[in-house]
This record gives sequence, C-alpha cells and structure tokens, in this order.
Amino acid sequence: MDLDLSPEDRAFRDEIREFVADHLPPAVKRRVMEGLIVTKQDSQDWQALLHARGYGAPSWPVEHGGTGWSSIRNYIFEDALVAGGAPMINVFGVKLVGPVILSYGSDAQKAHYLPRILSGEDWWCQGYSEPNAGSDLASLRCAAVRQGDDYIVNGVKTWTTHAQHADMIFCLVRTATSAKRQEGISFLLIDMKSPGVTVRPIITIDGGDEINEVRFDDVAVPVANRVGEENKGWTYAKLLLSHERLMIADVPRSKRLLARLKSIAASEQSGGRALIEDVRFAARVAALEIELMALEYTTLRFIAATDAGDEPGPLVSMLKIRGSEVQQAITEATMEALGHHALPYIPEALIDGWNEDPIGPDYAAPVGPRYFNARKISIYSGSNEIQKNIMAKHLLGL
Ligand SMILES: Cc1cc2nc3c(=O)[nH]c(=O)nc-3n(C[C@H](O)[C@H](O)[C@H](O)COP(=O)(O)OP(=O)(O)OC[C@H]3O[C@@H](n4cnc5c(N)ncnc54)[C@H](O)[C@@H]3O)c2cc1C
Repeated sequence: MDLDLSPEDRAFRDEIREFVADHLPPAVKRRVMEGLIVTKQDSQDWQALLHARGYGAPSWPVEHGGTGWSSIRNYIFEDALVAGGAPMINVFGVKLVGPVILSYGSDAQKAHYLPRILSGEDWWCQGYSEPNAGSDLASLRCAAVRQGDDYIVNGVKTWTTHAQHADMIFCLVRTATSAKRQEGISFLLIDMKSPGVTVRPIITIDGGDEINEVRFDDVAVPVANRVGEENKGWTYAKLLLSHERLMIADVPRSKRLLARLKSIAASEQSGGRALIEDVRFAARVAALEIELMALEYTTLRFIAATDAGDEPGPLVSMLKIRGSEVQQAITEATMEALGHHALPYIPEALIDGWNEDPIGPDYAAPVGPRYFNARKISIYSGSNEIQKNIMAKHLLGL
C-alpha cells in the first residue's frame, strides 16, 4: 500500500486540524497539553461540540449518526484531535458499548442509548473484571437471577474506570452455571443510579482515583436492558474486546507524549547544554521516534487491511503489546529527563489554577504521575502476557 496520504486525505486532515484549532477552548487544550487534570465537564462539552458538527461517533453507520469515513480517515481524525490537544471523550460509550448496541441491541436500545452517547449525555463505564476474574474473565461470578421482568444482580466488579462519573455501566453477568463457563454469561446495561449500586474508589500508584470497585446488592435490572440473547454475552463481549485492543496501540497519544519529551529535554540541562543535545540522550529519543513511526505504519497497514475486509484477528494483540511498550518507554525517558524534579508528588499541582511555587520547573508536576499511571497500559484490556498467549496460539499454532 501507499503510505503517503493522498491529496484528498491531506485536505481532510487540514480541515480537522482547523476545526480543532477553531473550536477547542484554549484552557482545555492547555490542561491536556500540560498533563493537568481534565474534568468530566471538559470531555462532555467537547463531545457536544463534536456531535454538533456531526463528528460525535465518526465510525458508526451514517444512519445512526456516524460519518461513513474509511478507517484511515477515522485514524487521521483521531490523530488530528489528539495532536491538537483535544480531551479524551467517553470511549466506553462511543467506542465500546456503542458498537455492541449497534450490532446486537434491540431497536428500543438503539433508539434510547445511541443518541445519548452521541451527545455526551450518558457517560458509560465497563463492568467486566472482578476479583479473581481478570485474565480468566470467563470465571466471573457476578450473578443475575431472573425474577419476573427483572434480573436481580448481586456481585462485585473491580478496576472499573471512571465508575464514579458514570451514568450507565455495561456488565457481564452470570445467568447460568450448568453449561460451559462462556455459555452462561449475559450482557446487561445497568443504570448506575439503581438502588443497591455502590462505588468505592481504588487509589492507584500515581495517586489518582480513576478506578473503582462497584458492588451490586440486589440490584433490579429490567430484562429489556439485556443486550441480545440470554447466555450469549460472551460473543458480544469478544466484539468489544477487539475494539478495545485496537484503540490501545494509541499511536496519536504516544506522538503527543514524544513531543512533550522533546520539549522537556530541550529545556533541561546536562553538562552545560540542553539535554536534547547530549548524544546519548538524543539517540534514545531518536530510537523511540523510530519505534513509534514503525508502529504507526504497522497500524496503518493493519487499518488498510481491515478496510479491505480482513478480520482484525490476533494481530490486534501485537499492536496492543507494542503500543503499550512504546508509551511506557516514552514516559520513562521523560521521567529520566527531568531527574530529581520528577520525585515530589504534589496532587494540587495537577489542578489547573494552582498558584503555589512549583518544585523545579513548572512542567515537572505531571511527569512522575504520568510515568506511574502508564504502568497500567500493559495490564488493562488483557495483559501483555495474555496477548502473547493469544499470538502464540493463533499466529504460531503453539
Ligand atoms: C488502570 C486499570 C483500569 C482498568 N479498567 C477496567 C475497566 O474499566 N473495566 C474492567 O472490566 N476492567 C478494567 N481493568 C481490569 C483489567 O482488564 C485487568 O486488570 C486485566 O485483565 C488483568 O486481570 P487481573 O488484574 O485480575 O490480573 P490477573 O489475571 O490476576 O493476572 C496477574 C498477572 O498474572 C499474569 N497471568 C495471568 N494469567 C496468565 C496466563 N494464563 N499466562 C501468563 N500470564 C498470566 C498476568 O499477565 C498478570 O501479570 C483495568 C485495569 C487497570 C490496571
């Protein structure tokens, strides 16, 4: 394939860049670019702006508010947004549960949930993992027992990202224990305001509170909120996981982090000159950039193949592994570029508007937390070890 963008695609990229430059509030852009805390409101407002322009969920079918763009154009769009400093939207809604509802949801579910995802009105979270059911997800035990027109749900989900902000959670629940484990799982859409739902924060190594434990105690969920057939949830869950792993190569974000690394290395000093001029450090940055370019070309090749009708398949695992390694390596080099100034942890310094004197340069505070936070990338959405198992089995036939 030709990896250069066509003149039409270049024009499209410029149009999106212009849209971001014209519409993204400068304060939000600064928070994103400087690694400060971005609020739910920032993301929801941005989603509303995207939606108003018809960009709310570009990859969805046109009749449900999508754009009909090719996958390459979706990638260019994403890349231009991230490079321009746009905040993350609610991926759990737009990119994960949205496609599942589109493929397997009832007409009523499509009519109710999809417009609310597009507009940013509903914020979703993902209830797959449980204590003792992470890598071995099929052993999940959160139970849904049918009682008239409801399921009564009891159990615990864990590591649930942004549950504290969510209006809705999509959950895998056990609806049968007699059959093969994968055949007794159903896919439920649960209102987080339902009586019996409790959210408890889990503080991560970077000091953040993005993940949670979610408990269900006798939570009544209408049967109408089940996606597809009872006990067929595993099939729907797998579709979602392949979308999740595809996103995770996250080349656009790594490009933004690399640009940040270069700017920090240009400001830091080593042996009387800018660190970026130190031959060994410059070689390290160059090696990271080459890795990232290779990953981007691999991603583009992969996207072109799926556009041509190929199934994503186990190669997604390769992108997930490499993407997480590159992103972690960039945050590690950034931490080292900053040296001892990366050590102090001042949570308030991550909040826009904090006006105390920073310890070290004013760009220092987010570097340590970002390094620690990035450790998660090789764990979530199927750990890298599990991805290697998948590749060994399905690509190498081991
Ligand atoms: C920051 C963060 C956010 C998350 N957000 C969500 C979310 O929003 N919703 C959600 O449902 N889940 C979420 N997760 C959960 C995530 O998907 C799980 O952590 C992941 O699947 C691993 O499961 P586990 O934590 O139970 O680890 P375990 O499965 O207990 O694994 C522990 C270690 O053993 C290794 N291991 C396990 N089995 C094998 C094997 N067969 N072969 C080789 N090595 C193996 C693993 O690679 C890992 O290193 C999140 C996790 C993190 C860290």
